Amino acid sequence: MIVLDGVSKVYHGADGEVRALDDVSLTVAPGEFVAVRGPSGCGKSTLLLTVGGMVRPTAGTMSIDGSDLYALGPARRARLRAERIGFVFQLFHLIPYLNALDNVLAPALAGMHSDRSEAAALLERLGMGERMHHRPPELSTGERQRVALARALIKRPEIILADEPTGNLDPENAAAVTGYLADFHRDGGTILVVSHDDLAAENADRTLHLERGRVV
Ligand code: ADP
Repeated sequence: MIVLDGVSKVYHGADGEVRALDDVSLTVAPGEFVAVRGPSGCGKSTLLLTVGGMVRPTAGTMSIDGSDLYALGPARRARLRAERIGFVFQLFHLIPYLNALDNVLAPALAGMHSDRSEAAALLERLGMGERMHHRPPELSTGERQRVALARALIKRPEIILADEPTGNLDPENAAAVTGYLADFHRDGGTILVVSHDDLAAENADRTLHLERGRVV
């Protein structure tokens, strides 16, 4: 269970203070699929990064199954993140000099339980069987996003946090990625996805609308 209680985040930028999240309280049940929508700059990415343990709130608490993420030390917070959360970003963040297979295995280097054959099977399932020995610069945008998805799934996370995972994709690849997220949800996974794509919202149990850092 993900629980945000009175979470605010204020950034101190070059143009002064920006209140990216403003007193957000929210509960996401295990196995729930929540879509987050709202205009650009309303705080969607900040919300996702806060839930993922990467942006410390200015006020309020964020907990997963009762442990307050930001009360943990950095090492324990990183471990919880590595063990339980998979991230899928719009800009993939793949390692350019590793091939697809090794990119999927990259989190496994941090001691996670996975191996090459598992990574290969996952890429196969995502329709990347023929391309797994290619490096990111040799892959299409849709293929890169599937590698990023496989990299998140290989850890068998309970929670997937996805920020515009279909943002750069053509309709066919977008539908494929949305389909894999729906499969993850069907198998009991919890998903928080930021998306402009109606497909994602259609698959979600619930849509959360953000406006100027507030849930509306
Ligand atoms: P969204 O994902 O909905 O576009 P963001 O969470 O990225 O919104 O941003 C919310 C607000 O916070 C925006 O006004 C943005 O410019 C600002 N912001 C985001 N990250 C930072 C940062 N690191 N420093 C300063 N301002 C930021």
